Amino acid sequence: MSLQVQSAISLKPFNTFGVDVQARLFAEAHSDDDVREALAYSARHDVPLLVIGGGSNLLLSADVQSLVVRMASRGIRIVHEDCLESIVEAEAGEPWHPFVQSCLELGLAGLENLSLIPGTVGAAPMQNIGAYGVEIKDVFHSLTALDRETGELREFSLQDCAFGYRDSVFKHQVARWLILRVRFKLSRVARLHLEYGPVRQRLDEQGIDRPTPFDVSRAICAIRSEKLPDPAMLGNAGSFFKNPIITAELYATIKQQHPGVVGYPQDDGRVKLAAGWLIEQAGWKGYRDGDAGVHKLQSLVLVNYGQASGLQLLSLARRIQTDIAERFGVELEMEPNLY
Ligand code: FAD
Ligand code: NAP
Repeated sequence: MSLQVQSAISLKPFNTFGVDVQARLFAEAHSDDDVREALAYSARHDVPLLVIGGGSNLLLSADVQSLVVRMASRGIRIVHEDCLESIVEAEAGEPWHPFVQSCLELGLAGLENLSLIPGTVGAAPMQNIGAYGVEIKDVFHSLTALDRETGELREFSLQDCAFGYRDSVFKHQVARWLILRVRFKLSRVARLHLEYGPVRQRLDEQGIDRPTPFDVSRAICAIRSEKLPDPAMLGNAGSFFKNPIITAELYATIKQQHPGVVGYPQDDGRVKLAAGWLIEQAGWKGYRDGDAGVHKLQSLVLVNYGQASGLQLLSLARRIQTDIAERFGVELEMEPNLY
């Protein structure tokens, strides 16, 4: 079946903030051929292309004058297996959490700490998704991307991706690389990461002293469900700001004024702060202006109570950034991609 291009489509169902903007053109790509057709359409009609997955890391500030292509390709396969590792390949349009569950059902460990993150496999490398002490760089093998400038396929190794904290080469070249499929290095021998605060505590509370990867996944799903708003009930894009990594000197100054501040030392001597803590200290937790607000339980999450526009959410974000810079001397960087 060839690519179906529709015009004037509301993107409200396609972004987890639930912002109601229109795409000039919209299509779903189920295969590499669809993706190539979309590229050709965009060139022929001189209209830019915007690729999306689950829309869970986007802030849409206005109608989108592009051909929006939603990745809907499916397929999960083991492409290599030996006694040490299994390489699993998944198509970009695979929804992330069901993919994690499928790997666990195949007896493959490694992704359990990344359970219940919304979005798709294809977008996961974009910001090196991370949670509970694991990032995809820890289990990444390679990926195949289409170079939108040349139309050629390119293989990316771990080094090529230049993964950093919520960062990658793709985040800096959003209009160039279209990720088609990703391969992960998983294992039938679990090496669990339980050191991240509430995980071990949750397992202990359940009397689980020798957890399986499934136990870890279930514990993390339970913790997340209690702490984070479900986008199906309350529009949001998860953490709105990255946790800032600051110099040891600035950390010492903040600590003097706010002894309760928690810092996580980094390998390079800098210190990571919890952005949510800064925002809460500044009194923004639970703040609401019209339908744009800061979540009542989790200050790092901006929410749309219903009719907030992308610009209203952006304006709230800017006010928070200014306030945090004035109070603490810390620059907060937005995590979702802004369009
Ligand atoms: P989209 O929002 O659709 O796209 C994000 C960006 O990637 C856009 O710039 C888009 O153009 C680009 N893109 C999408 N697909 C492709 C592709 N195939 N090729 C090239 N570019 C592409 N993130 C974390 O890291 N950790 C968390 O724990 C976490 N928890 C979250 C909890 C909630 C409730 C929510 C709403 C979000 C959370 N996020 C988290 C953020 C988000 O889920 C992830 O960043 C996710 O990977 C985004 O996937 P997506 O498919 O929705 O991407
Ligand atoms: P939390 O447990 O309340 O902790 C607050 C912050 O402190 C976290 O963001 C985390 O940074 C940092 N932290 C806590 N324990 C740490 C440790 N042992 N070592 C290093 N850093 C530590 O966090 P939360 O908000 O409930 O989120 C739990 C996890 O899910 C975090 O990893 C978070 O990143 C992830 N998450 C991400 C999003 C998103 O949209 N990006 C949304 C929800 C949850 P890190 O963020 O660097 O881990």
